[in-house]
Amino acid sequence: MLTMMEGYIHSTESCGTVDGPGIRFVVFFQGCPMRCRYCHNPDTWQPNVGKTMTVDEILTEMESKKEFYTHGGITCTGGEPLLQIDFLTELFTRCKELGIHTCLDTSGITYNEKPETLAKMDKLMAVTDLIMLDIKHIDPKTHQWLVAQPNEMILKFAEYTARKKVPLWIRHVLVPGITDKQEDLRNLGRFIGRLSNLQALDVLPYHTMGVVKYKNLGLDYPLKDVPAATKDEAIKAREIILEGAREGRHELVEELKAKQKQAE
Ligand code: SF4
Repeated sequence: MLTMMEGYIHSTESCGTVDGPGIRFVVFFQGCPMRCRYCHNPDTWQPNVGKTMTVDEILTEMESKKEFYTHGGITCTGGEPLLQIDFLTELFTRCKELGIHTCLDTSGITYNEKPETLAKMDKLMAVTDLIMLDIKHIDPKTHQWLVAQPNEMILKFAEYTARKKVPLWIRHVLVPGITDKQEDLRNLGRFIGRLSNLQALDVLPYHTMGVVKYKNLGLDYPLKDVPAATKDEAIKAREIILEGAREGRHELVEELKAKQKQAE
């Protein structure tokens, strides 16, 4: 069956190895409402511009390299795929019909609790096998400064994915002097430790490879003076987040026990 719905797609990549389990066909969606100061893809920010593709076109492209994806699947990233949720849902629905593993790499920024949004989100969750959620900063003020958006709905989105029981990987970019405070890392851990669907945590060291893109686009690079983070720093930060996660999980268990006692 052919479908005529089209999405604005920045680009596709046929052998993604860091975008979910196995080898992935990666679809970069165009448009993002966040403005992360360390964004490496500022060329994906502007919505509703550039190349359009139908679901069939994406699937045909993927099909031509099918043998690569037997242990992988498709990952939609961006930009922010949730900005085009109807198209994304259609793409993932078709993928599931074909037995393809679906992964959504998102910031969760478009989430809200209006019934019409939840109805669309519910439909998407039903065809999503894995969510990779980037939590940029746990502190609301620094989050706003870092990405020009509040984190309230992003954290609510994380809790929503837990209620929907969609497996969740959390990603956090470690930026020296900005996202590496022990207290923030621990608090991030405490938050994610309470999510029952949490399966993995990736801490990615900030790098400066995006600087060239800014130059080419005539944009000023906001984190000019910030050095790259090392792998070692990322490993240490991950340990702190995991310590926090254990605390968060423990608190949750205690709360549940107390509730159970009250009910008896
Ligand atoms: S959410 Fe991703 S694409 Fe959007 S600004 Fe941040 S890093 Fe860039």
